[in-house]
Amino acid sequence: MTHNKGIIAVISGFSGAGKGTVVNGLTSRYGYSVSISATTRTPRQGEEDGKDYFFKTKKEFEQMIKEEKLIEYAKYVDNYYGTPKDYVFGKINSGQDVLLEIEMQGALQVKKKFPEVSLIFITPPDAAELKNRLVKRGTEKPDVIEKRVMRAVEECSFMPEYDYIMVNDDLEKCITQMHSLIQSLHYTRNNQQLLIDRISSDFKAFMQL
Ligand code: 5GP
Repeated sequence: MTHNKGIIAVISGFSGAGKGTVVNGLTSRYGYSVSISATTRTPRQGEEDGKDYFFKTKKEFEQMIKEEKLIEYAKYVDNYYGTPKDYVFGKINSGQDVLLEIEMQGALQVKKKFPEVSLIFITPPDAAELKNRLVKRGTEKPDVIEKRVMRAVEECSFMPEYDYIMVNDDLEKCITQMHSLIQSLHYTRNNQQLLIDRISSDFKAFMQL
């Protein structure tokens, strides 16, 4: 029997696109694992260390970079964010699918290192809705919201680098579509190498070649 590894699905999108809510829906409903990132950003109200993020000082984060403990990292609006290696590889090696909810520079680093990984981009239906959601969320001050919307303008140019683009207009629909998409990724040629090898040698053995 082939032992199937889990797959990594990278999910990005503008700040306020609703990625977090979509990812929460995917984990609670379908049991996906989500990578817990390290960051130098200060915790928001209610966020817990080791659950939402591993909150680090700049010095600690730079030490992790030096020791190559991160799959990727990026600076986003004045803070570092990065994906710890151990957790992600542990999960996929035990057959679980892992979601990486990360921004675009990091997503492109992952694609470069692991071309078989699919990049999924979530967008709101339009810019006004993005700003609306950020204001409604109420977790950032107006100047940070402006910075995040401005960043979204720049980030549009990265959208063509993504394998899949998903509009988050209707949350329920978006979660269901994302689940179908991620499941289908198991069957891409690059994720089926073990199966290809097994079938090939089985057929040769069967025909006594
Ligand atoms: P927030 O401060 O809103 O939690 O996250 C800001 C941005 O950083 C989001 O776009 C989020 O997806 C991204 N992010 C979170 N963790 C990581 C990570 O480990 N690596 C990278 N490159 N981006 C991350």
